Amino acid sequence: MGSLEIKNFGILGHPVGHSLSPQMYEAAFKAAGFPNYNYIPLSIQAGKLFMAVEGIRGLGFRGVNVTIPHKTTISKYLDAIDSDAMVIGAVNTVVNDGGMLTGYNTDVSGFLAALAEANFLPEDCHAVMLGAGGAARAILWGLCKKKAEFITIGARNPQKAQALANDFLPYGHAEGFDWHSDEFKDMLQTADILINTTPLGMFPQVDDMPPIDLKLLPEGALVYDIIYNPIETKLLRTAKELGFPTLDGLSMLLLQGKESYRLYTGEIPDMEIMRKTLEKYLSTK
Ligand code: NAP
Repeated sequence: MGSLEIKNFGILGHPVGHSLSPQMYEAAFKAAGFPNYNYIPLSIQAGKLFMAVEGIRGLGFRGVNVTIPHKTTISKYLDAIDSDAMVIGAVNTVVNDGGMLTGYNTDVSGFLAALAEANFLPEDCHAVMLGAGGAARAILWGLCKKKAEFITIGARNPQKAQALANDFLPYGHAEGFDWHSDEFKDMLQTADILINTTPLGMFPQVDDMPPIDLKLLPEGALVYDIIYNPIETKLLRTAKELGFPTLDGLSMLLLQGKESYRLYTGEIPDMEIMRKTLEKYLSTK
């Protein structure tokens, strides 16, 4: 159902030069018959965010994705926030309906859809998460929504891990640990899934990985790294060598993009085109 109408979209962050969203969305727009839908990187410094949001309204952008450092601060400039974004406390997608701006967080549906694609059922599982930053908040909320039995959060800063767990007390059972502690090592032994949400191993530091002894995990535990550049991180390579099933971060990236695209257009994008576009650009980075 294509159209020659002109519509503008963008990604709002600082920096945004590294983002693959422009390539991914434009490929999907073209494939769907929207040759005049433009997706523009919008590099906006923190102090200019209010003006940028008013610019979205004034210029009539249909929508924007939001990335570091604006995911939490943008909320106060929007007219409405959807319930996932409200609980997580971060917005990664803004839709403009005739000047009314609504904030969404599609990381959570991307994460859960990626688990479903991998045939992993989070219900009643023991999940161990590494890291306690922004992506960890969305993932913890996804696990709580799906009624994971217990979520262990391991981080270099145990206070941050426990603060994150405390924020989600009304929704599920989570506890924060120092990832070097013996208590955390004990928790690894009953994990159904290990999820890395830290940037350890991300390009260009591809020889890094979280300081976790994967041999402590029970046989068959899924090792999931949400990093997508590189697609196979050192953590995943090590897990594969030890015989664990693995999941990379590309599907979450694609599936959160699919949900944002649906919010922008009311349609489902061609996922194969989006995947091929991302793989092409990731292999040249
Ligand atoms: P963030 O908010 O900065 O959080 C990063 C977390 O990792 C924090 O807990 C931080 O600890 C920890 N960390 C950072 N550097 C570390 C180090 N050298 N050693 C130990 N811990 C360290 O970042 P984010 O937005 O959550 O993103 C994290 C990763 O997820 C990035 O690689 C990003 O590309 C990826 N991601 C992927 C998707 C996807 O769709 N696949 C979506 C979102 C994010 P401190 O608090 O102590 O600094």
